[in-house]
Amino acid sequence: MNNDDFREWSRKAAEWGADYRAGLRELPVRARTKPGEIAAGMETAPPEDGEPMEAIFADFEEKILPGMTHWQHPRFFAYFPANAAPVSVVAEYLVSAMAAQCMLWQTSPSATELETRVLDWLRQALGLPDGFRGVIQDSASSATLAAILTMRERALSWQGNRQGLAGQPKVRVYSSDQVHTSVDRAIWVSGIGEENLVRIPVAGPLRPMVPEALEQAIVRDREAGLLPAGIVASVGGTSVGGTDDVAAVCEIAERHGLYVHVDAAWAGSAMICPEFRHLWQGVEKAHSIVFNPHKWLGAQFDCSAHFIREPDDLVRTLAIKPEYLKTHGSDGIVNYSEWSVPLGRRFRALKLWFLLRAHGLKQLRAMIRNHVEWSGDLARKIAGEPDFELVTKPMLSLFSFRHVPEGGDDVDAHNLALVNAINDDGRIYLTQTRVDGRIAIRFQAGQFETTKEDVDMAFDVIRDCAKKLASA
Ligand SMILES: *Cc1c(COP(=O)(O)O)cnc(C)c1O
Repeated sequence: MNNDDFREWSRKAAEWGADYRAGLRELPVRARTKPGEIAAGMETAPPEDGEPMEAIFADFEEKILPGMTHWQHPRFFAYFPANAAPVSVVAEYLVSAMAAQCMLWQTSPSATELETRVLDWLRQALGLPDGFRGVIQDSASSATLAAILTMRERALSWQGNRQGLAGQPKVRVYSSDQVHTSVDRAIWVSGIGEENLVRIPVAGPLRPMVPEALEQAIVRDREAGLLPAGIVASVGGTSVGGTDDVAAVCEIAERHGLYVHVDAAWAGSAMICPEFRHLWQGVEKAHSIVFNPHKWLGAQFDCSAHFIREPDDLVRTLAIKPEYLKTHGSDGIVNYSEWSVPLGRRFRALKLWFLLRAHGLKQLRAMIRNHVEWSGDLARKIAGEPDFELVTKPMLSLFSFRHVPEGGDDVDAHNLALVNAINDDGRIYLTQTRVDGRIAIRFQAGQFETTKEDVDMAFDVIRDCAKKLASA
């Protein structure tokens, strides 16, 4: 592709993107394809000769697009959002054109220095104290892995990386059963082992760990010769928004010298609104906090903000300095690749800078407040319908419900059928979870372009599909 073609096709791609966004409301939210259907439309062998862009682009529209689930659809109410505000997409065009590898300060000083600056903007926006330093990780899973490696190394007096875990006391990490599966995987990958992830019982509507049970588990482990290392606290768990009492967790951690990582991947964005900060009260005492601006805030995926109170512990755990990576003679500079597991880094700070400047915190706060309000209204409407019950009350903009028609016997099967019927309808997209062993349907509002009318439509679709299914 020569530069003239590059110009032409870049323009076409940008035009396409704008048309796509403008037409999203008319598309079914979830892809309507069967497994294997899309792959069956592709050549099985790679092409020997180059093909014209016209043909490639036409195939993209014809063969790829039908197999896409539309995450930027205003009626995407499934999982959590993965927002890409248009302005962050524009920034990504630029980043992808420059395609810099931003592993060290010198491999793109702007990337490093802007990252430091916008992460400090975000720190202020969330109301975190001055001492926290930020880094962008590719995902919350990576941030959590980095935090768990840090707690392991800190507990082992920095010997785990060198000596391995054989012959060391067993490292123990504590969490509830509401944390994301990325915690389990970090525990596996770090060599700590699932048996040493101690699940603390929860009690109360937000399902926080019982503080006394947490402390007892730590004391018991220490008496048994095990090595308590850290605690992973959840703020806004993926299933139903499970949220620990961060202040209580940090107090216990402080007493026992443990490291605290707070996973607020989704809920963290809401902390730009001061009125929601009670949900992570005490967070300033945590060592490590992750939230995903690529979820609710609007920074195109991927963009995970990781705040650390003592970056030296993290860098001591993860930095490797082979000769060819040393940046001689420039002391005091940050090489963010020493703050994360992967070496290579994309220039992710640019989209945050564009996003925060174009919308300002006021607009972003207004969006989040609307989502919380509309979701609360919908929860009340659903609770007021005959045959529906609210399973978990709204945590920010997330709640869960189920349909319990009179005389229906297998309620789990009925609700799985209902969520399928709703998604086949196409106007909205929801996902299910299990709460205390039983199926519940989740709803969250969080898409950048969602309006009150979109949430109202969700009510109509849910009620209509339930009626149809019950009378079938
Ligand atoms: C989405 C989510 C994650 C995982 O985020 P990735 O960035 O996809 O790794 C972790 N924890 C919580 C609470 C989440 O909602």
